[in-house]
Amino acid sequence: MAAVSIIDQMTPAAVQHLNRNVSGYRFFPDLLSLNQHFMPGNPAVPTLITLGLAHLGAYNETTGELELDGPSRFAGKTFGIAYTYSHEFGHALDGPSHSFSNQVDWDVAWRAEIVRAFPGTNAVTSAQEGFSRFANLVYGGEVARADVETNFPLCVEFWRRQSLW
Ligand SMILES: [Zn+2]
Repeated sequence: MAAVSIIDQMTPAAVQHLNRNVSGYRFFPDLLSLNQHFMPGNPAVPTLITLGLAHLGAYNETTGELELDGPSRFAGKTFGIAYTYSHEFGHALDGPSHSFSNQVDWDVAWRAEIVRAFPGTNAVTSAQEGFSRFANLVYGGEVARADVETNFPLCVEFWRRQSLW
């Protein structure tokens, strides 16, 4: 189960942050029901999914719940459960007050490494999204930790100082 494998990769400090920030989990059987939850009563939801504009999951900062779909086909690509979950777990780790991504040191690391590596993506829109993109690299199971250290040394250093690495 993907949520368990992400938590298995977390340091004790990261798990403590997660426990403090996450009140519960809501699982949805498919993208349609998940996005109908995000956009209740919106008749355009099936069209948005077809256009690749659906949400794959969310960390609800108001309720503290992680709201997640299973593996999804999205804009013609299949995303494994770990890919989606790791991004939203990143938001949950950061928490409702963005306690990591609001730090100046993270801002510097994000601009120097994440913004440079992922131009034109969601990751450049804010330090918060950059933090979750990095969580994606760390927990998503697609990149080796050694490669992350080589390519994102400032981000790794920040995570290490926060006892997250
Ligand atoms: Zn996000």
